[in-house]
Amino acid sequence: MSTLPTPSADAALPHQNPDHPDGGLAWRNGFAALGPAFYTRLRPRPLPSPYWVGRSAAMARELGLSDAWMASDEALHRLTGNTLFEGGDALASVYSGHQFGHWAGQLGDGRAIWLGETRGGQEIQLKGAGPTPYSRMGDGRAVLRSSIREFLCSEAMHGLGIPTTRALAVTGSDAPVRREEVETAAVVTRVAPSFIRFGHFEHFSHNRLHAELKTLADHVIDRHYPACRDSASYSANPYTNLLAAVSERTARLLAQWQAVGFCHGVMNTDNMSILGLTIDYGPFQFLDAFDPDHICNHSDTGGRYAYNQQPNIAHWNLFCLGQALMPLIGDQDQALAALEVYKSTFLEAFHGQMRAKLGLAAGEHRPSGPSLDAERALIDATLQLLARHRVDHSLFWRGLSQHVAGGPADPVRDLFIDRAAFDMWLLSYSEHLSQINRGLAADLMLKTNPKYVFRNHLGELAIRRAKLKDFSGVDDLLTVLSRPFDEHPGFESFAALPPEWAACIEISCSS
Ligand code: AMP
Ligand code: MG
Repeated sequence: MSTLPTPSADAALPHQNPDHPDGGLAWRNGFAALGPAFYTRLRPRPLPSPYWVGRSAAMARELGLSDAWMASDEALHRLTGNTLFEGGDALASVYSGHQFGHWAGQLGDGRAIWLGETRGGQEIQLKGAGPTPYSRMGDGRAVLRSSIREFLCSEAMHGLGIPTTRALAVTGSDAPVRREEVETAAVVTRVAPSFIRFGHFEHFSHNRLHAELKTLADHVIDRHYPACRDSASYSANPYTNLLAAVSERTARLLAQWQAVGFCHGVMNTDNMSILGLTIDYGPFQFLDAFDPDHICNHSDTGGRYAYNQQPNIAHWNLFCLGQALMPLIGDQDQALAALEVYKSTFLEAFHGQMRAKLGLAAGEHRPSGPSLDAERALIDATLQLLARHRVDHSLFWRGLSQHVAGGPADPVRDLFIDRAAFDMWLLSYSEHLSQINRGLAADLMLKTNPKYVFRNHLGELAIRRAKLKDFSGVDDLLTVLSRPFDEHPGFESFAALPPEWAACIEISCSS
C-alpha cells in the first residue's frame, strides 16, 4: 500500500491579488466546516509594537505571497494576530492525549490559533497568539527563544527532505512573558496541510462521541488519504486503512529522524501528526556525539523519549490511535494487523536510509553488489562503532561522503580517539565500496548526509543575538539550513564540532 502525497500549496494562485492587505490569500472552508464540537471560534490577542524576527521567503513563495507583502506592516500585524485576515476563520481546536505514557485528558490548542485553510490546501496557524479555552493554566504565549527554534527547525527539516509543519515567519514583541525568568513574546506562523493530531481522535473516542469521531476520520480520509476508500486497499474498512496508512507514514518519518540523528523530545500523542509530519518543536535536538541513549528534554528524567526509544514510542502512540479508532474499526485483530505495517515499514525504511547514508543504494542495479546480510552486518557495525566512540554524528557521515567522493580519510579518522578502530571499520567498508560504483555512491551520500544540521548551540548563538534585536543570526541560519546539502562558503563554522559549552545547554518543556 502506498500513501498519497499531501496537497502542495498552489503557488501564485491566479485569483490572488498581491496588493491586497491580506497578501491576496484566499481561503476555503476546511477544518472549520466540521462544526463547533471540534473547536471554539475566537480572536488572537494583540501584542504591542510587533517586529520581524524571521521570514521564510521559500514558504511565502509557496503560498503565493509577494516579497512586498512580506515586508509590509499589513503582514507584520496579521502574522502577529493583531489584525485578522478577511475570510479566514480564527479558531482553536480541542484534542486530548497521552503525555509521558499517561492519559492527560483534555488538552487542545492552548496557544495556537488556526486562521483558516488557503485555497491551495495549506492551513495557517499562529502559535503564541494568546489564550484560548484550552490554555488551562497557560498564558497562551510563546517566548522568543522557543519560537526561533521552531521557525528555524521547521525550515531546516524541510530542507532535509523530512516531512514537517512549515514556518512562514516569526514576529516578536517586547511584551513580557513569565517563564523561569521574564522573557519576551513571539508568534510563529505555522503552515501545514493539516494540524490534526492523534490526540484529536483520542479526544472524541475517549468521550464516546462516535459520530464526531467518524466525521473527523472521514474528513482526514477525504482530504488526505483518499486511497483508504479503495476497495483494493489494505482492507475493506476505510478506517483500518487509515490506521495502516498513518502507521506507514509515521514509520517513514521515524526512519528519517533516526537516520539524521533528530530527537523530538516530547513524543506525546498530542504531538503526533495524523499526516506523519514532524510537529511541535519544543526541546528537540540534533545529536552532536552519537549516543543512542541521548535524552534531549531536560524534563524527561526517565528517558522515555531518548533517541533510541523514539521508534518504539511512535509504535506505542499508534497503538493509542488504533484504540481511539476501535469504534470505527470494530475488529481488534484488524487493528493490530494494521499496526504491524509500522514495524515492517520502519525496518525497511530505516535500512533504506542507512544504505543511502553508506552509499550502498547506488549499487542497487549491480547484481554483484553486497548481499543483504552483509549490508545489515555493515550497518550494525557502523552504528556500534559510532556509539562506542561517541563520534560526532553529522561530521562522521559528511566526512565519509567526502572521502568516498575522493577526499582524504583523515577528517573522519581524526574524529576518533581510537584511530585503529576506525581503520579496521574502513577496511570492511571499503570492501563493500569496491563492489559498487564509487562515483554514484558519493553523489548519493552527499545528497543524503547533510553538511549542516540545526545543532543546539547554533540556535543558542542566534537567540542570544536576537534578544539584543540583532536578527542576522536567524537569517544566516535560515539561509544555510534551508539548503543543508550545499556548500555555504563563509559559514563553515556552522558545520564545525560544537563547542564544549554546547553539552551544558539544557532545554526543557518550558517554552
Ligand atoms: P506541548 O508540550 O507544547 O505540546 O503542550 C501541551 C499542551 O499545553 C497543549 O495543549 C498546549 O497548547 C498547551 N500549552 C503549552 N504551553 C502553553 C502556554 N504557554 N499557554 C497555553 N497553553 C499552553
Ligand atoms: Mg503540543
